Amino acid sequence: MAEHPARHVVVLALDGVNLEVARACWPSADLRLMRSVSPTTSSACWLSSLTGLAVTDHAVPGVVFRAPSGHPRLVTFLDYDGADLTPATDTVFSDAARHGRTPLAVLGDMEHYGSAWRDALLRHAHPVAGHSFYTLDGTYRPRPPAEVAARVRTAVEETLARHGTRQPCLLWCYVEVDQHVHRHGYDGHTAEVLTALGEFAEALAARDVVVVAHADHGLVPTVHDPALAGLLDDMGQRHGFTMGGAGRMRWLYPERRAGGAEVTARLREALPSDVRVLPADRVFAPGSAARARVGDILLVAEGERFLTDPAYRYDHGSFAPEETDTPFALWR
Ligand SMILES: [Zn+2]
Repeated sequence: MAEHPARHVVVLALDGVNLEVARACWPSADLRLMRSVSPTTSSACWLSSLTGLAVTDHAVPGVVFRAPSGHPRLVTFLDYDGADLTPATDTVFSDAARHGRTPLAVLGDMEHYGSAWRDALLRHAHPVAGHSFYTLDGTYRPRPPAEVAARVRTAVEETLARHGTRQPCLLWCYVEVDQHVHRHGYDGHTAEVLTALGEFAEALAARDVVVVAHADHGLVPTVHDPALAGLLDDMGQRHGFTMGGAGRMRWLYPERRAGGAEVTARLREALPSDVRVLPADRVFAPGSAARARVGDILLVAEGERFLTDPAYRYDHGSFAPEETDTPFALWR
């Protein structure tokens, strides 16, 4: 970047776009594989992406986890507004400021997700409100693909025009494509939006703007299995455990620490073969802050049937290549 001090950098942060669909839609990009952290959930992945820290170090393991105070109460990342969520301090925005760029975050579909997580994610950025793409007031709002792309173009152009005249900016813009993919998969809508965004990126690059588009994780076909949900409820009551996590990776907190081995054995007997039962130490480094927040036993989906929102057809959180392999695309 040092040889082009005058260039703006635009980062399209596209939630839930996998490598394969990006390859098909962005023929003009310099596109590489960027492998997601584990678990493949937005909370862990975006925090790693913007702070540069591994999950072990930023300590946000996923969606539902033990309260940062150490209290056994579980918290949900978007609702938690307390202290000590993460030790992360520097972000890509503090780096940008050090390199003489105005750090801007178009909140987009994150605007209504006020939380300690969002504060940590966007620390050192000047927030830009008033734009949404896949949501309205924080809930899913379907819009035609051309309208989604036009809204992104407007958000970027208006922000550059307003804040980018005196010095170059790093403009980060959050588009929650994930909202659509959860319900419809990588369909014609997704392809149309991504193609239009690729053309926009090309047009910006022609004006000497550097454009990056990347994602946090992809999604795979997933259907809710009510029988599995019922079985886990029953076992939770019988053996004494509660559940955290979300999507295709859950973790269990056995009430009695010593009872974990027996609960693991019972789960392996009772659960379908495509639900993997793992010790948490296999995914979260033993002794780390992230490990202290998850339960001792992980349940990881390997097939399509698992626990999810009954309205969803696609989900994420596990280790499938379609989830872990995401694009890092560059136009310059
Ligand atoms: Zn996500």
